[in-house]
Amino acid sequence: MSRIAYVDGAYVPHARARVSIDDRGFLFGDAIYEVWGVNGGALRDAEGHFARLDRSLAELRIAAPMSRAALEIVVKEMVRRNRVDFGHIYLEISRGAAPRDHAFPDPPVAPTIVLTARRLDPRTFHARAARGVSVISAPDIRWGRCDIKTVNLLPNALAKQAAKEVGAAEAWLVDAHGFVTEGGSSNAWIVDAQGRLRTRPLDNAILHGVTRARTIDLARSLQIPVDEAAFTLEEVYGAREAFLTSAVNGPMPIVAIDGRAIGDGAPGPVCMRLRDAYFGAEAG
Ligand code: PMP
Repeated sequence: MSRIAYVDGAYVPHARARVSIDDRGFLFGDAIYEVWGVNGGALRDAEGHFARLDRSLAELRIAAPMSRAALEIVVKEMVRRNRVDFGHIYLEISRGAAPRDHAFPDPPVAPTIVLTARRLDPRTFHARAARGVSVISAPDIRWGRCDIKTVNLLPNALAKQAAKEVGAAEAWLVDAHGFVTEGGSSNAWIVDAQGRLRTRPLDNAILHGVTRARTIDLARSLQIPVDEAAFTLEEVYGAREAFLTSAVNGPMPIVAIDGRAIGDGAPGPVCMRLRDAYFGAEAG
């Protein structure tokens, strides 16, 4: 079945979808994005992603191309038209297309909006989690507003490519003080040597992950205390468990970092409890 994209008001075949070469997303990375996981044809954590989208637009002073209600209809229509039972929806909004000039277009132009859909095989997806994934560490060389979900992802792409070249799935980025910030496209968690579940507190150095917030809620409902406290790479090496969270992956166990096994080298029980709670019985 052919994939359908949404571009500036029209549903079009994905392969024929186009935006202008003057688009500021292309020229300057002047664009924000959002990703919703889809389970059983329903958006996961829909509200959290819509709220973060509004915040990203406001932080960059990009005009919303349509109302929240209209956007929800488009996102759900993308799920329907692409028959996404399990997978995700990607949304990008740029400041629009205008002759190349770093300062904002004056007068303002209409923002560009693009949505795409992707279907995934849930069996392959959950089988990967049952094995766990490996990560590497890499210096965090990004800018000071990583809390905004912009498409400025070059440092993330470079770090994730370095991971891929050694067979790892993710790169954990380490700040100038030796603390892990987050992954190239996920938030970072450990169960430390003392058994405490930890993730970095919210600041401008990390994306405020919707799945991170959801995982904190799930942990509390399972009576697992969560410590929002940053941790160092050394602490990761000595941790009982490590895992990542993202809308696409949910809680995903990490079994090795920089070629060293985490704990006993198998997916950890705390992560798997959270994963089961996140995906429900379907996680299998
Ligand atoms: N950090 C970064 C850098 C990301 O790209 C993502 C994925 N969007 C996340 C964290 C996780 O955020 P979420 O749980 O909202 O997908």
